[in-house]
Order: sequence, then structure tokens, then C-alpha cells
Amino acid sequence: MSTIPANRCRMCGATSYHRLFERDGGGALRHSGRYRCSGCQLAFSQASEWRGSAAPQSTGGGAGAH
Ligand SMILES: [Zn+2]
Repeated sequence: MSTIPANRCRMCGATSYHRLFERDGGGALRHSGRYRCSGCQLAFSQASEWRGSAAPQSTGGGAGAH
């Protein structure tokens, strides 16, 4: 068993991400509600998208096995 960080990019394995900001009509920076991985160009609005597969590593749970 290896300890896998709860939050980790599915693309590059980075363990952090940044908020994305965009300018509104007045030129002020606002959080756009989206994020970008610190290790690659993956952008997302939900951390679950960044983490990728919803299922954590399971050791033969057998769910759905015929
Ligand atoms: Zn990444």
C-alpha cells in the first residue's frame, strides 16, 4: 500500500492548483470560478475534475462484478 495524496492531478500528479482570475467589465480581477493545475495546463471548475477518476484505488472491491 502506498499513501496517495487525496488531491492530485490525474494528468501530471501535481498536488496543488491555482485559482484562475479574469477581468470584469471594470477591469478588476475576479475569481472566475475556475482553477488550473500548478503542474500542467489542465483547467477545471471542480476539484473532482482535476483529480479525475472518482473511484479511489480499491483492492478488488468486486462492485459490479458479475
Ligand atoms: Zn496537472
